[in-house]
Amino acid sequence: MDKNKRTASKAPLAKRSGQYRRLVIKLGTNLLTGGTGSLDIPTMTGLVDQVAELHRQGLEIVLVSSGSIAAGRDKLGINSDRKDIPFRQVMAAVGQGRLMHNYEQLFDRHGIVVAQALLTKRELSHRGGYLNARNTILSLLSLHVVPIINENDVLATDEIREEKFGDNDNLSAMVANLVDADLLILLSDVHGLYTSDPRKDPKARLIPVVKRIDAEIEGMAGGAGTSHGTGGMATKIEAAKLATRSAIAVVITEGSIPNVITRLAEGEPVGTLFLPTGTKLESRQRWMISRLASRGKIVIDDGAAAALKKRKGSLLPAGIKDTEREFRRGDMVDIVDQQGCRIACGMSNYSAEEIQTIKGAQSKEIMSLLGYEYGAEVVHRNNLVVL
Ligand code: GLU
Repeated sequence: MDKNKRTASKAPLAKRSGQYRRLVIKLGTNLLTGGTGSLDIPTMTGLVDQVAELHRQGLEIVLVSSGSIAAGRDKLGINSDRKDIPFRQVMAAVGQGRLMHNYEQLFDRHGIVVAQALLTKRELSHRGGYLNARNTILSLLSLHVVPIINENDVLATDEIREEKFGDNDNLSAMVANLVDADLLILLSDVHGLYTSDPRKDPKARLIPVVKRIDAEIEGMAGGAGTSHGTGGMATKIEAAKLATRSAIAVVITEGSIPNVITRLAEGEPVGTLFLPTGTKLESRQRWMISRLASRGKIVIDDGAAAALKKRKGSLLPAGIKDTEREFRRGDMVDIVDQQGCRIACGMSNYSAEEIQTIKGAQSKEIMSLLGYEYGAEVVHRNNLVVL
């Protein structure tokens, strides 16, 4: 019913920038606290005002906000820099309410309703949970509500078994993928991606546009994190890789730049823009590449990696070196090269245990090795997405 109304309200913007309709904006802890130990209300006000402006213009905005742990620490007057999970869970439980309270007050000034959605990787890794989260967020958007998402730190415990997002860079890429956004903006306290660390190297140059994230770009990201948040440039690049593969443009920049959000939404170049590399994928493929579904890994040799990268053919046992973690026939797996770089993902026709028996063999030997077979391919090309 208000479909027509929304189309009408979007028309002027469509003419102006013409490119973005649905945005996911990640606000990092260092930005929200201004590098201090507590939420910086003037900074939050400036960011909310920009989001409200875009909302008025008819854009759909999803926020992924960090800051609950910092807010909890501040509220309890705890100065400790402890990073262990039980401590973070307690701080997040105290701080999440405070964080939302601030957002609610700030958006109220614009007459905009907000909603809290706390996600866990474990729930999203089941197709049912993924679809529920997607439906809820899309329904909120259709009601003109601004969803504010964070990881449910109180429940999510297991970083080692990869059952926790751990950083909101990755979470925001998954969310952008989930809602099929056009643009993901990662706002933190760094201006963008530099050729080297600008804090140490005066010759460091900002890279304005990245066409494709390759080993060189990943090398520039290094691994350094910042003081209060969890993610560093490396997690941002990882997030950008996932989103761009799903045809989502990504910008990494500094949230304190005046009007940065509204300027980016109008297509102005600020920070580093990562161009989409993939074509629009169907929802099931987006879920497959999101890593959420992945139950394990298949390690392949260089020949098989080169063949997959040419986007031809299936994965056969001959090219397989190893498996990691237990998975069953029909499970989704990541396919990685021997350096651990993720090349593709897909649905395995064989369990990890079976692959251990047939790895390196010719397909025609599967029957004699296992006593049965499910086909010549370990991952058939119809069930494979190359990254
Ligand atoms: N979920 C954490 C928080 O609300 C943030 C994780 C991150 O910094 O990326 O504090």
